[in-house]
Amino acid sequence: MKIGVLALQGAFLEHRKMLKKLGIDSFEIRQNRDILCDFDGLILPGGESSVMGKLLNELGLMQILKQKIADGMPVFGTCAGMILLAKEIDNDRARHLALMDIQVKRNAYGRQLGSFDAKEKFADKMVDMRFIRAPYVSKILSNEVEILSVVDEKIVAVRQKNMLATAFHPELLDDLQIHRYFVKMLK
Ligand code: GLN
Repeated sequence: MKIGVLALQGAFLEHRKMLKKLGIDSFEIRQNRDILCDFDGLILPGGESSVMGKLLNELGLMQILKQKIADGMPVFGTCAGMILLAKEIDNDRARHLALMDIQVKRNAYGRQLGSFDAKEKFADKMVDMRFIRAPYVSKILSNEVEILSVVDEKIVAVRQKNMLATAFHPELLDDLQIHRYFVKMLK
């Protein structure tokens, strides 16, 4: 099993470290030729969604990755990665991969609460969560979307079939549960 981690910008190394701890092979996606090989899943890391979206287009990666996900490749987006996956963005005109039936709000916690940690349920287990200028899901757009975590009445983790998205960063803490959940989606 091999997972491609989008490595244009942001916290991609941290995801690779988490996967390594789980004994999963990963590689970095920086350009078209990186995805000529076979792989089983994709991680879209946190960072700046506007920058990643622009680079995905400029490098000709946007449509290829979009097609792979639409064809069923499991994908996990964290924070900016969630924004890349969302069909609608509340406070931004840009749309990126636009595959998941969610509306998100960027930088949704304002400046004061720019970064914070929480411990809440993900599916049925308690997990550690780190939020950094995070979005949250402001609207669910179809009944295919399953809500996996709610923190302070805001939806912060969702799944729609082969797509998993969290507003927080599990890769910046030591808790492997969410990566383990994603790896199970690949089997
Ligand atoms: N604020 C960033 C954005 O809008 C996301 C922050 C993050 O990924 N930690 O893309």
